Amino acid sequence: LKNVEKVYGEGGNAVKVLKGISTDIEKGQICVLLGPSGSGKSTLLNIIGGIETMDGGEITVNGLNLTGSNEKQVAGYRRENLGFVFQFYNLVPDLTAKENIEVCAYLSRSPLDMDELLKMLGLWEHKDKFPNQLSGGQQQRCAIGRALVKNPGLLLCDEPTGALDYNTSKEILGLIEDINRRYGNTIIIVTHNDAIKNMAHKVMKMHDGRIVKEYTNETPVSAKELEW
Ligand code: ATP
Ligand code: MG
Repeated sequence: LKNVEKVYGEGGNAVKVLKGISTDIEKGQICVLLGPSGSGKSTLLNIIGGIETMDGGEITVNGLNLTGSNEKQVAGYRRENLGFVFQFYNLVPDLTAKENIEVCAYLSRSPLDMDELLKMLGLWEHKDKFPNQLSGGQQQRCAIGRALVKNPGLLLCDEPTGALDYNTSKEILGLIEDINRRYGNTIIIVTHNDAIKNMAHKVMKMHDGRIVKEYTNETPVSAKELEW
């Protein structure tokens, strides 16, 4: 990311919510975005995910310059290389857990093996249940399966545990770590659960549209400094 900017509103009502975000995220790493409400975390994630436009700067993902690409190229990038997990699971209510994941497998030329994936997600015993028969944690596992089945290079997670209790959240974050180890996807995650601390290769703290602190394994700062 190079100097990424985002403005909402026009004229006198224009507000710059991203004020020049620059960073590099290495392939295969887990990167955590922290910061107070309204600091721009979701906006940044949505821009990286191609579901929101930017007003300045440049983003290159695996060699594809999102700024210089046309709509078709960005749609192709989203379809083939990108998985998105949200706080709310957005499952299709009339499809079983397995079917919810299967419909997304068709987006890929080389989807993951369905049985192996269901087992890895801990959904094997629940695969024929409908969303309203699943717990919140199981529904999020299913939503993660939908994002993951096409084996995307980049997985974006916006508060994936925001609706779950602390222990279920820890399990979901553990699953995300397993996914990173097993499939090597690059993962950018917004979360308030401090269990992610031990899993992250890189942490970025945002405040008012800027990255104010950043550390990697090579340049650690204390947890206190990050005011987790
Ligand atoms: P939270 O932790 O509460 O989810 P966040 O860090 O994800 O917060 P964003 O959702 O990225 O914050 O919002 C950043 C700023 O942009 C906020 O001030 C918000 O009001 C503003 N904003 C977000 N979306 C829009 C929109 N569609 N139109 C106008 N302003 C918006
Ligand atoms: Mg948000």
